[in-house]
Amino acid sequence: MIKAIVGANWGDEGKGKITDTLSQESDIIVRFQGGSNAGHTIKNDYGKFALHMLPSGVFYDHTTSVLGNGVALNIPKLIEEIDSLVKGGVPKPKLLVSDRAHIVMPYHIMLDEYEEERLAGKSFGSTKSGIAPCYSDKYAKIGFQVNELFMEEDALREKINNVCTIKNVLFKHLYGKEGINPDEIYDLMMEYKEMIKPYVANTSAFLHEAMSQGKEILLEGQLGAMKDTDHGIYPMVTSSSTLAAFGAVGAGVPPYEIKEIITVVKAYSSAVGAGAFVSEIFGEEAEELRRRGGDGGEYGATTGRPRRVGWFDAVATKYGCKMQGATQVALTVLDPLGYLDEIPVCVAYDVDGKETTEFPNTTYLYKSKPVLKMMKGWKSDITGIKNWDELPVQCQEYVNEIERLIGVPITLVGSGPGREDIIKRTPLI
Ligand code: GDP
Repeated sequence: MIKAIVGANWGDEGKGKITDTLSQESDIIVRFQGGSNAGHTIKNDYGKFALHMLPSGVFYDHTTSVLGNGVALNIPKLIEEIDSLVKGGVPKPKLLVSDRAHIVMPYHIMLDEYEEERLAGKSFGSTKSGIAPCYSDKYAKIGFQVNELFMEEDALREKINNVCTIKNVLFKHLYGKEGINPDEIYDLMMEYKEMIKPYVANTSAFLHEAMSQGKEILLEGQLGAMKDTDHGIYPMVTSSSTLAAFGAVGAGVPPYEIKEIITVVKAYSSAVGAGAFVSEIFGEEAEELRRRGGDGGEYGATTGRPRRVGWFDAVATKYGCKMQGATQVALTVLDPLGYLDEIPVCVAYDVDGKETTEFPNTTYLYKSKPVLKMMKGWKSDITGIKNWDELPVQCQEYVNEIERLIGVPITLVGSGPGREDIIKRTPLI
C-alpha cells in the first residue's frame, strides 16, 4: 500500500516528524519532488537533524530510502548529508537514487544567485539552491538525468558543449559574468558519477516490485500546496509540484495505488519567501508567535531566515487539503499557542467587499483581507500530552473547529517537537 505525506500550507508544517513517526511501520520512504531548497527538522534518539535531500526515513534500519525521478538532485549536498548522519551516530542509510532524477549543476546554482541579484528588491526570495534553473532545464530538455553520467564520453561532451553555449550567452550578456568551461563541467560530472554510483537504481522498477510484495511505501512531499507550481500562489511557488498526485509521476508508481493522503496542517500559519499571505501578522504580535513557534522559534531550516507568521487560515488550508486530495489531516504545532487569551482564526476572505471561503487566484489573493473569528485560548502548556482527553477543553474546541472548517478528519495532533509528542484523535466528521 502507498501512503503520501504532504503539506496543505506553505511548507514547514512538520511533515518531517509525521513521516518519521509513520516510517516505523513502513518499508520504503520516497522523496518525489524538490531538492535541497527546503528542509525537514527531525528530533529523535540520535539528536536533532536538518534533512534537505534525504527522506525522513533514514533514521531506521528497516527502511529503504528512495530519491525518485521527480527530485532535483544535488549530489555533493546529498553525500555531505549522508556523511553528517554517519558522524552523528546514525547507521548509514539504505538509499536508492533514481537513474532518471535531474542533476542540479553548479551553473544552476550560479544562475539562481545571479537572477536574484538582478531582480534585487523584486526577487522571489529563492534559497539559491539552483532548483528553478534545474527544473527549467528539465522541461527545456537540456538537463542531465543521473543516467547520463554513464553515457559514452563523446556524446556527453557534445551535450555539455551545447548546454554551455546556451548558458554562456546568459552568463556573459545578461549577467555580465564569466562563462563556464565545458571541460570543467565534464570533469565535475565524472566526480559526481563516482559519488553517486553506489546508489543509482531504476527506482520505479524497485517500487513496482515492492508493491507486488505488499510492502508499505510512504511518499514524502516537500513544501506544501501553497507552493505548488500550478495550484499555489504563482509565481511565488516552487518549481515542482508539491501535490500528492505528482507523487505518482515523481516516484513512477500508478496514481490509483496511493490509498491514503495524510495532509499535514499547521495550527497557525508560517511561510518563507515572498508572496501573498492573507492572515499574516506583523510587529510585536508576530515577533511573539515567531519566538514561541515551532521548535525554538520559526526560523528556516535551510537558510535560518525568520519565517513570516500569521493566524490559522481556514480558506487556504481547506483549499490546500482539496488540492492534495487529503484523506486525513495531521494537525501540528498546536502547543506554542498556549500563551494566547484569544486565538484569531481566518474563516473567510474579504475580496473587494465580498466575503468568500473559496481560495482565489493570485491576482485576487493580493486584494484579499482576512475575516477573523476569535477562539478561546487555553492558557496552559500542552507540550508532551499524549491523550486527547487530557487536552484542555478550549484546546479541543480549537481543533474541532479547524476540522469543521476544513472538512477533513483530523486523526493526529502534534503536541511538541519530539517524536513521541503526538496525540491520536477520533475525528468528529
Ligand atoms: P517540514 O518541512 O514540514 O518537515 O517542517 P519542519 O520539520 O522543517 O518544521 C517544523 C518545525 O516544527 C520543526 O522544527 C519541528 O521540530 C517542529 N515541530 C513539528 N511538530 C511540532 C509540534 O507538534 N510542536 C512543536 N512545538 N514543534 C513541532
